Amino acid sequence: MEGTLTARDKVGVQDFVLLDAYTSESAFLENLRKRFRENLIYTYIGTLLVSVNPYQELGIYTASQMELYQGVNFFELPPHVYAIADNAYRMMCSELNNHFILISGESGAGKTEASKKILQYFAVTCPMTQSLQIARDRLLLSIPILEAFGNAKTLRNDNSSRFGKYMDIQFDFQGIPVGGHIISYLIEKSRVVYQNHGERNFHIFYQLLAGGEVERLTSLGLEQDPHLYKYLSQGHCARESPINDKNDWKTVFNAFFVIDFTEADLENLFGIIASVLHLGNICFKEDKQGCASVPDTHEIKWIAKVICPLTVELSVYARDAMAKAIYGRTFTWLVNKINSSLVNQDFTQKTVIGLLDIYGFEVFDKNGFEQFCINYCNEKLQQLLIERTLKAEQAEYESEGIEWEPVQYFNNKIICDLVEERHRGIMSILDEECIRPGPATDLSFLEKLEEKVGKHAHFQTRKLAGPKGWKRIGWLEFRLLHYAGEVTYSTKGFLEKNNDLLYRHLKEGGMSFSAHGASSVLALFTQVLCGSQNSILRECFLVAELENRRRPPTVGTQFKNSLSSLLELLTSKEPSYIRCIKPNERKEPSKFDDFLISHQIKYLGLMEHLRVRRAGFAYRRKYEHFLQRYKSLCPDTWPHWHGPPGEGVERLIKYIGYQPQDYKLGNGLFSATKLEAYWRGALARREI
Ligand code: ADP
Ligand code: MG
Repeated sequence: MEGTLTARDKVGVQDFVLLDAYTSESAFLENLRKRFRENLIYTYIGTLLVSVNPYQELGIYTASQMELYQGVNFFELPPHVYAIADNAYRMMCSELNNHFILISGESGAGKTEASKKILQYFAVTCPMTQSLQIARDRLLLSIPILEAFGNAKTLRNDNSSRFGKYMDIQFDFQGIPVGGHIISYLIEKSRVVYQNHGERNFHIFYQLLAGGEVERLTSLGLEQDPHLYKYLSQGHCARESPINDKNDWKTVFNAFFVIDFTEADLENLFGIIASVLHLGNICFKEDKQGCASVPDTHEIKWIAKVICPLTVELSVYARDAMAKAIYGRTFTWLVNKINSSLVNQDFTQKTVIGLLDIYGFEVFDKNGFEQFCINYCNEKLQQLLIERTLKAEQAEYESEGIEWEPVQYFNNKIICDLVEERHRGIMSILDEECIRPGPATDLSFLEKLEEKVGKHAHFQTRKLAGPKGWKRIGWLEFRLLHYAGEVTYSTKGFLEKNNDLLYRHLKEGGMSFSAHGASSVLALFTQVLCGSQNSILRECFLVAELENRRRPPTVGTQFKNSLSSLLELLTSKEPSYIRCIKPNERKEPSKFDDFLISHQIKYLGLMEHLRVRRAGFAYRRKYEHFLQRYKSLCPDTWPHWHGPPGEGVERLIKYIGYQPQDYKLGNGLFSATKLEAYWRGALARREI
């Protein structure tokens, strides 16, 4: 009836491919808005899932919902993260191959929640034997431990993951989860010593103080009040109301026991956490010679005896460097420890589903080395998507002998090369600056960039941009034109962060102890740590490292290498994608910020993805599968078709009067413009 809203007007379409105006960004946004208003946070683009963070509990993750999605064909139910999980699982079981689910989006968009929902889905719905329950529990409980040590409250997210995470869930031939493996990327060590206003340090510090037993705290020399610790109070929000540190402590503490941590492990681990807090409280005062002295040795007693022939500034620097190194390495130790408890040697033939929860593209007012690494990582993942989806899709048409108009998309390989190419890319130039003799500075690095990549179409600096473009670029800045948009980076701190200073100074310290003040203290600190009573620290700071004269790879190179192995790992698996969108900056339910969301649609590459999906024949099924499912639509094929499947499909299509321009019959595939929803509807109505 005219004037009445149809369901489609009200709730939009559940697959963007069904949009009439599929090239229009405003139609895309409108569809997302309609659905969000109805609390429908999930929408497909073909098989890719778009998810908008609702910032409220919607009751869509219940046991009965899990049951609903089990073993049901992808398009037969409303879009859901469970459908993605179930689809990957079914395919893995039937085809015995490996899968991954890549979850991306900006901080606070809902990536970590999505990955947890998927893990829970497997934990609840997969078959299980009694002896394997422990493996399942360990998988689940590794999450609160990792979050305690790797997540923190930031302005964008109260539970922001400050590291990238890839987790393999391993299944045996019956589809029972039997083990797992976790890889972490770039933990944000700087947070240990400094937090912006409104942000906190890693959760574990506050949890220990709020929940730890009195005897434990006393033996560690700690007080309950987080405001007493410099490393916990700089952000002025140590006691944040939505976060219940005391409860979280209980969860984490119990998880430790399921994951095989011994009392001794815990004593050592919390000994480290406490010593980082004490380290942060060491104050330095200038003595008559201008050197730092420690007026209150109370804190030192808890760590080690330290002699500081340094200025106050350098002493603070050395102290913080040490705290960061200790925490960073302890985090790595923790991941290894969890991994050893997730190993299951009884099963040699395993298939896996990998979950990748990794930082999205970041553009802040000030962007530094961290953003550079994170955005480079996103370029690489976009490359993967292009290779696996956009390119693969077109190649499939070709191999099937189907004619179609190729879709233009931007291939960002050129930007990946700009960053990572050997000897010529920005990473290599940075490494060269870090190791070359003579004084290298953030400015000399910028000049090297101008000299070596200045002509690149995706690179700009103030000098190179000319009179028109220079205004928004500062003196120490360079700008990259990423696939998702421009980002201006300040080179300030690039050399230092890339260098992993602790290590480098240590090496130089070995040769000339007083050349650089901080080196002597760091060397001393490290010697103390190598000989520590604490077995975790002894493992983290090996004596061999002190003696080793070979230079370890820089942070950038390490990151580049770990990304390249990650991509190798992913390339051998079948992909699924989840793109998470943050609806507003205020963590509010029901608030749909057009500007913010448009921006994310753009840099998540959703329009491009939709165009490729829509181009030509988005619906594709093998002849056999299509016929099996829809044979009841035609008397010739129902109940059985005995001829070649391709002919059966042709018969069926002709019978229902499907227009020749709307479909293609390939070598083994039936491709059509109408989607599963259409065929499903046909089945329901049996009328076409
Ligand atoms: P990200 O990992 O992308 O930074 P999170 O997954 O940590 O973001 O989500 C941030 C917060 O948003 C969560 O702590 C939770 O409060 C809320 N949230 C995210 N996804 C959902 C969801 N599906 N349902 C309800 N709340 C959610
Ligand atoms: Mg997260």
